[in-house]
Amino acid sequence: MTEKRQFRAIKGTRDILPPDSSLWNWFERAAREVFESYNFREIRLPIFEETDLFARSIGADTDVVGKEMYTFEDRDESSISLRPEATASVVRAYIEHGMHTLPGNVKLYYIGPMFRRERPQKGRYRQFYQIGAEVLGQSDAPAIDAEVLEMLVVLFKRAGLALITLSVNSIGCKQCRPKYVEVLRQELLKVKDKLGADSQRRIETNPLRVLDSKLPEEQPIIETLPRISDHLCAACRQHFSELKDELNLRGIAYEENWRLVRGLDYYTRTTFEVTAEGLGSQNAVCGGGRYDGLVELLGGHPTKGIGFAIGSDRAILSIQEGGQAPKMPGLGVFVAWMSAATYPAAVRIARKLRECGIAVELPPEAMKFKKSLGLADKLGARYALIIGEDEVTSGTYTLKRLADAEQKKLNENDLLEYLESERRGSGA
Ligand code: ATP
Ligand code: MG
Repeated sequence: MTEKRQFRAIKGTRDILPPDSSLWNWFERAAREVFESYNFREIRLPIFEETDLFARSIGADTDVVGKEMYTFEDRDESSISLRPEATASVVRAYIEHGMHTLPGNVKLYYIGPMFRRERPQKGRYRQFYQIGAEVLGQSDAPAIDAEVLEMLVVLFKRAGLALITLSVNSIGCKQCRPKYVEVLRQELLKVKDKLGADSQRRIETNPLRVLDSKLPEEQPIIETLPRISDHLCAACRQHFSELKDELNLRGIAYEENWRLVRGLDYYTRTTFEVTAEGLGSQNAVCGGGRYDGLVELLGGHPTKGIGFAIGSDRAILSIQEGGQAPKMPGLGVFVAWMSAATYPAAVRIARKLRECGIAVELPPEAMKFKKSLGLADKLGARYALIIGEDEVTSGTYTLKRLADAEQKKLNENDLLEYLESERRGSGA
């Protein structure tokens, strides 16, 4: 006999159950609607890619690629990884399908799971979900950056994520950033022995990343370091200043945060992050920036790019914790039928109501009247539709509103009309 055992979801993964799944769908639907109103279109991407795609685009010596990727050997011995993010795949698809020949900027969004082997905690999972968008094309006009930020703010506002902060920065370009990094490195060397091991190592490998440090004892030192805003070239300074003008024009509140950096060479100019209150230390709900060098790095023509990724798990947590979650439409009608004689009428009317978009529960077995209404109540139905033998002969239905027990007798047409107008009125 095989041993009896129970299975549990793998550490860092979780099931999203109803009613939470309704909130997820609602949030994703809001994102689709907002993004499509900005003329973004969905791209559906594979969940695994060649490992090398991520190694090249994210960087082989980043934590994401070095320590967190789920990498395995396929049966033909090629190395495959579950995607830790999706920008690399979007860019791969852009190049593979020759999308540079499409008119105007290519504006794409995606929704789906990402995988990183991190230490699981609140707001940090090994399978988590992102909603992201990317703009690829020949222009790097600050208006593109501003439109992307406006779109984000519109979505968060619509989703009821009230207490958010948008931080922006410019990290310069190929011309000015290397000079700044050198200045930074020299200053960091002077304070090296006051820094932690990670930061000490980064002085050599990636000084910009020191600015990311969350170590409390490093904070006063970091505050005294030279800032990139004093080292931007004229073109980058102008791009950043035009971006800020654009944000003001659009009425978007933001903070400047000179420590908002991206470690990799192909990132240019604009970087941004959205944080939400009430999430503890996992408070970043969205990160993004410009990556004008990435398409070329992955073998395409020189192309400008900007994008972001929203962490859905955290965004939804924040909506729930802020008490801003909308009331989801639940069960509309419970069809209370009691005897075999009424069953055919129950089946028919259930189908009709469902065709009108009403959520209907039709019990699969006959139930006594009291038990039936008791279950309707427990399921949270708005109405019980009572179908007794009298109702069948007279062709009328008794509709009982469960909240206040108000009853109406209606013929089929009036019933459908009433429930439909009711549904529209309640927004359900
Ligand atoms: P963090 O600093 O919180 O680790 P990150 O810089 O690694 O974030 P990005 O790679 O920029 O994050 O991804 C964008 C967004 O995806 C983050 O702002 C966050 O909301 C979400 N995210 C990233 N990693 C996780 C995870 N392991 N679990 C849940 N959400 C995540
Ligand atoms: Mg991370």
